[in-house]
Amino acid sequence: MSFLIRKSELRDIHEKVAEDIRISDEDALRLLTSKDVNAVGAIANFARQRKVGNRASFIVNRYINYSNYCILSCKFCSFSRKKRDQDGFQLSIEDMVTKAREALDIGITELHIVGGLHPSLPFEYYLDMIRALKQVDAGLQLKCFTAIEILHLAWLAKKSTDETLQELKIAGLDALTGGGAEIFDPSVRKQIAVGKESAEEYLSVHDAWHRLGGRSTCTMLYGHIEKPTDRIDHLRRLREQQDRSGGFTGFIPLPFQPENNEIPVSDPPTGTDQLRTIATARVYLDNFEHITAYWIGMGLNLAQVALNYGADDLHGTIVEEHIFHMAGSRTPQAHTANEMIHAIREAGRQPVQRDTFYQAIREIEA
Ligand code: SF4
Repeated sequence: MSFLIRKSELRDIHEKVAEDIRISDEDALRLLTSKDVNAVGAIANFARQRKVGNRASFIVNRYINYSNYCILSCKFCSFSRKKRDQDGFQLSIEDMVTKAREALDIGITELHIVGGLHPSLPFEYYLDMIRALKQVDAGLQLKCFTAIEILHLAWLAKKSTDETLQELKIAGLDALTGGGAEIFDPSVRKQIAVGKESAEEYLSVHDAWHRLGGRSTCTMLYGHIEKPTDRIDHLRRLREQQDRSGGFTGFIPLPFQPENNEIPVSDPPTGTDQLRTIATARVYLDNFEHITAYWIGMGLNLAQVALNYGADDLHGTIVEEHIFHMAGSRTPQAHTANEMIHAIREAGRQPVQRDTFYQAIREIEA
């Protein structure tokens, strides 16, 4: 045990983690709110090292948003538009195929595709989209749709969630994205995302997908109106779901971006808060392999630091991002694989290029 931990008020939590004892919600709250951020990081780093060793991953991927038209109006959302808005957009399947082809030239292995709940596109558009993109390259992994999009597609298709997911899977869907979890607590959800699916509905979509043999990630949008206890409640529900269905490949905490939306937040997440949130997730979510430091929200420099606060993944090259940038993110639109590799090496870790399921594609010298 390091001197740092021996002297810390968090020593008892470290002892639990060292003995592989699951920490309680109260322990997690102490980690999340502790002023001893270095001790929090040391505990998370210990848990991370035991789980995944010295490796830290990234993926060469491209985001595509097929449309930002949405029938809902979540207050925190800076991305959605109505048909009357001049900056709304909608891509044809041909547009998407062109973007996919261009991105294959830079070596992507994954397309990450989400959009709003479009008011008029039929279910067939989504099936045709998946089929067309699979035809571009059968090896290209398609990680598409949030849980609320799946519920919307089921409604369009007039089918159950299971049947809808099965059809999408047959068309070529490889994985679900984790977006849309926001904060699960119903009173917070009501204030920031009225009309959106409940926590139970979000988790039921992922549950159904996992039971079909599918894999997905999950997220938490934090640093707006929620309290620390709401974050722990959110993590608890994810840990319980993972105990039940086991299909989450990783957890991606998303720091709130405060511009161009209707949630007045004068105090968005600080760097320390972001590091503590990642570290708490690593220690509390003991049934998750991978915790991502999402550079689009944090910036690559802080994401790199997070590799020593429990994170073991930097997400992807992205290429074109709308959702966080429309909310005020000042990060670049893309980072190259070499920039990711450099950041991981500088953090003292071994870079690994991964696929959608976090399997290694390329091991790179540390
Ligand atoms: S968060 Fe998603 S569902 Fe809500 S308004 Fe934005 S695009 Fe629509």
